Amino acid sequence: MATRLYTHPIFLEHITPPGHPERPDRLRAIERVLDDEAFVALDRIRAPEGDEATILYAHPADFVARVRAAIPDEGIARIDADTSVSPKSWQAAITAIGAANAAVDDVFAGRADNVFVAARPPGHHAEKTTAMGFCLFNTAAIAARYAQKKHGVERVAVVDWDVHHGNGTQDIFWDDPSVLYCSTHQMPLYPGTGAKSETGAGNIVNAPLAPQTGSEVFRDALLSRVLPALDNFAPDLIIISAGFDAHHRDPLAEINLTEDDFDWATGQLMQRATRHSGNRLVSLLEGGYDLQGLAFSVAAHVGRLMKG
Ligand SMILES: [Zn+2]
Repeated sequence: MATRLYTHPIFLEHITPPGHPERPDRLRAIERVLDDEAFVALDRIRAPEGDEATILYAHPADFVARVRAAIPDEGIARIDADTSVSPKSWQAAITAIGAANAAVDDVFAGRADNVFVAARPPGHHAEKTTAMGFCLFNTAAIAARYAQKKHGVERVAVVDWDVHHGNGTQDIFWDDPSVLYCSTHQMPLYPGTGAKSETGAGNIVNAPLAPQTGSEVFRDALLSRVLPALDNFAPDLIIISAGFDAHHRDPLAEINLTEDDFDWATGQLMQRATRHSGNRLVSLLEGGYDLQGLAFSVAAHVGRLMKG
């Protein structure tokens, strides 16, 4: 078996305003770095279109209709100060969901050991009824519920190492103990949630990191809070909300990780997937806004996934 990679040209057609950090060049940088011969064994798949009905696993129908109605025929329409949509944004978001759900199918069918989905827009800030923080729909949350509904598993863990707290994923699973949500993130920082005291139904584990910390504090947070929670929960599937904006080069935050830290963290989660989840691990791109930091981090992450 192998590591599978989902991409699709539609992900380049979600257009954000000039100067916006969440831009199509992010995926071009990832594509370039994964073109290296070190990644020749990657099983590259064109993402299938998503099933719109699966959005309802995490969001109510009236919210979905509101996002659809916001899509402009031309140009760019703002949803909030940070979040915008262009004519192809709906199709991009739906295809990101299609890729994440297909990745879930792959790991349950044994077609791949693990899967990385290089898609945009990202998802982890999207709450049940609010699109925000560059995110329209919560792809990771939809994929977690999809695994439960389609594959009949009880427990799914979402581990989110994006430098921003995944307020959306926390919101969606706040009172759902069948999903464990663990997040490391800078605090204080956008969106302002993610304190240790926010524990939901005992299924939310927040590990905030102080600004200007780095490798040691991040690894300690994983070792002391996230990994023990995973061992205790014993998930049937691990989904990573893989943002790479805790990299030291990233312009949006002040955590000083290197690509080695993402390599290490990936290995730790792979060990837990082996121990508890029949190896099943699905990784979804979230943030990461310095093109070099993003590319090197994704290379480290995917390179580790491929080591099996
Ligand atoms: Zn982020």
